[in-house]
Amino acid sequence: MPRGKCRVCGREAEYWVPWANAWFCHDHFIEYYDKRVRRVWEKYFPRGHRKVLVAVSGGKDSVALLYSISKLLGDSGLYYHALFIDLGIPGYSRESLRIVEKNAGRLDIEVEVARLSDYGFTMEDVYRLVRARRIRRPVCSICGMVKRYLMNRYAYEHGYDLVLTGHNLDDMIGFTLSSIVSGRIEDLVKLKPYVEGSGNLVARGKPILFMYGVENKWYVEAVDAEIVGGQCPFRAGESSINVELRDAVLAADKKHPGLAILMARNIVDKLIPRIRAPEKKLKSCSVCGYPSSTDPCGFCRLRERVSALLSSQE
Ligand code: AMP
Ligand code: ZN
Ligand code: ZN
Repeated sequence: MPRGKCRVCGREAEYWVPWANAWFCHDHFIEYYDKRVRRVWEKYFPRGHRKVLVAVSGGKDSVALLYSISKLLGDSGLYYHALFIDLGIPGYSRESLRIVEKNAGRLDIEVEVARLSDYGFTMEDVYRLVRARRIRRPVCSICGMVKRYLMNRYAYEHGYDLVLTGHNLDDMIGFTLSSIVSGRIEDLVKLKPYVEGSGNLVARGKPILFMYGVENKWYVEAVDAEIVGGQCPFRAGESSINVELRDAVLAADKKHPGLAILMARNIVDKLIPRIRAPEKKLKSCSVCGYPSSTDPCGFCRLRERVSALLSSQE
């Protein structure tokens, strides 16, 4: 396709955005992206938060989130820092932290680090035990649980009242369809762009839930941000059903640009409000005191098991 002119200023454009049916120059692409994030913020996030943590892994999605949301949070006069979770993945965690610090430094944002090793183990220990079949659960699923736990606990202990993550549109589509396929309809409520907190459960939000993965990639290029190059060395491949369903929708989106956004919007605005999630009474974990559907919570059970297995190996 020959390069067009920017829809806003008429200058030579750099980005063709099919779902906007428009070309944008560098600056106006950034503006277009920021406006869409701002709309999500204004529509779904209540006012009144004071201290915000932006969880940044160093990947394209959360780095795009950090750049875009920092303008908005700064304008709103909110106190905010970035959060990096150091899972103790050899090489990868250190490199990711370097990249998060580099981006945050450019934006003049402080980085806080939550360390899994403070709890006596690392994801490397978990990985080894999974490989040795001493723990039977996929390592990425354990890692996801650990990250959610640490994000919430760190935020609560340091007085934050909102945690933001970089979940994107592509993943939300894959997650939705695979939840439908397997009948886990209540799981869809996890896709709300904003979930309020209570007690020691801190509110959570996903401001770039309606942004395509590829848009986040263009955005980090446009703002000239650095992102983590490789993949997590422990990554065992995503659940293939998720990926295939996601790719099927993204392929349909190529012929009908914006289809995935429309679908996501309807999931959030029409479908989720109709789901009557069974009253899952959250208990407080008798070990750590954080909310969980089981007692002890998943994190404390993991911690206990890893520590027992590691000491039996000594
Ligand atoms: P994932 O679970 O890898 O799909 O990541 C989802 C979101 O969680 C990312 O967009 C980040 O906001 C956040 N996240 C994942 N890993 C980390 C990490 N190591 N440190 C801080 N935030 C993270
Ligand atoms: Zn322009
Ligand atoms: Zn616990």
